[in-house]
Amino acid sequence: IWDHVTKYFKEELPKTSFDTWIKDLEPVAFENDTLYLQAISALHKDHIEKHYSIQIRQVLFEYLNHDVNLIVSLKTEATPSSNHIQVNTSDNNENNGSYLLNPKYTFDNFVVGEGNKMAHAAALAVAEGPGRDYNPLFFFGGVGLGKTHLMQAIGHEVLRTNPNAKIKYVSSETFTNDFINAIRKNTTDAFHKEYRSVDMLLVDDIQFIGNKQSTQEEFFHTFNELYNNNKHIVLTSDRDASQIPELEDRLVSRFKQGLSTDITPPDLETRIAILRNKANVNGLQIPDDTLSYIAGQIDSNVRELEGALTSVQAFAVMNQEDLTPNTAAKALRNYKRNVKSNSPSIPNILDTVAQYFNLQVSDLKGKKRVRQIVVPRQIAMYLSRELTDASLPKIGQEFGGKDHTTVLHAYEKIKKDIEEKSEVERDVDSIRRLLEK
Ligand code: ADP
Ligand code: MG
Repeated sequence: IWDHVTKYFKEELPKTSFDTWIKDLEPVAFENDTLYLQAISALHKDHIEKHYSIQIRQVLFEYLNHDVNLIVSLKTEATPSSNHIQVNTSDNNENNGSYLLNPKYTFDNFVVGEGNKMAHAAALAVAEGPGRDYNPLFFFGGVGLGKTHLMQAIGHEVLRTNPNAKIKYVSSETFTNDFINAIRKNTTDAFHKEYRSVDMLLVDDIQFIGNKQSTQEEFFHTFNELYNNNKHIVLTSDRDASQIPELEDRLVSRFKQGLSTDITPPDLETRIAILRNKANVNGLQIPDDTLSYIAGQIDSNVRELEGALTSVQAFAVMNQEDLTPNTAAKALRNYKRNVKSNSPSIPNILDTVAQYFNLQVSDLKGKKRVRQIVVPRQIAMYLSRELTDASLPKIGQEFGGKDHTTVLHAYEKIKKDIEEKSEVERDVDSIRRLLEK
């Protein structure tokens, strides 16, 4: 009978709603006219009980000709741990602080995976019924994981269903600047009106009000005014509210009184799906093995993933090559070099390479000519050339006083091996990844 229910919802609901709420719902038993369902999280359980149980019962009633009870329980399974990544690039000029929403940041363009499932579900719940549950909604997580995207998707969705809704999207810096300007120009009344008359306030990167006392004070009042009028507030931050330095306790508790949910980096499958989606959106034809290759190379965040895709595409066009994994590999070598902000040191590389091949650093610096040592030594030299700014003589020096021509020779040899021998390419890539950690 559950199939009948899902079929009904599949036809009746928008795809995102169906995928979020119904698809993962599991029927566990049907006894004494009671249907037992398991939801994947408390949020799902809550939302289904509140907003879908009537419909489910209605469908069953029509199907079975009698009323059915519904019991939704929680599927007990370990929740994925939240391992935050720390990348120190800031969101610059995103939307330029204006409250226009980026038209690309919709639910349709958002790929749901393990790391953002809860955040997505919460976002959709709020978009479906703003002012109802989960106020404020607070997303936190590392850079480039889709916080801004989800937040704006809520805005788009609310506007789609209610074009007259007044939605304001700002970064917390814009809020701060507007406030400071209002004081300077003596226009605080207009400022209050602007911020306190909206139906929904989306404040991105709220962590930046942390050390700004009067802005916090102002935001506290804005928040309360909106909250008390059942206006929804959505916030994002790079960390949990209680971790924001110098954020007043009363704000921390306000931020936590709704729903706080984190976003963690996407797994490989999700990264591939995101790339495929992105390629589609941009009208690009990219073979699956190339997409998988890129997704395997970039595992930090979605913004970098998108950047990698763009640079692979540009590389292929400029060099008139097909979009093969091999072309992607070449393009990504450049890309990663540019992206890397804190490149490893040569001692770093020596350590990592030695560990990877189960050797001693002294082996790499030494003069033994056995193959098990020579190749790792050459790889270490190659990586030193690729990943640091050190000159050839300097690298030679770090390798126990070798001639710069030895380094150059090693570099050329490994470069060629990478093209021709997949084991070398694999080793070099694995070591690179270790170095990035
Ligand atoms: P954050 O605000 O967390 O730093 P953004 O929302 O700006 O990250 O996301 C960075 C980029 O990655 C955006 O272009 C966004 O569209 C994209 N992105 C992030 N997560 C996803 C996802 N799950 N599906 C599709 N695109 C995503
Ligand atoms: Mg952002």
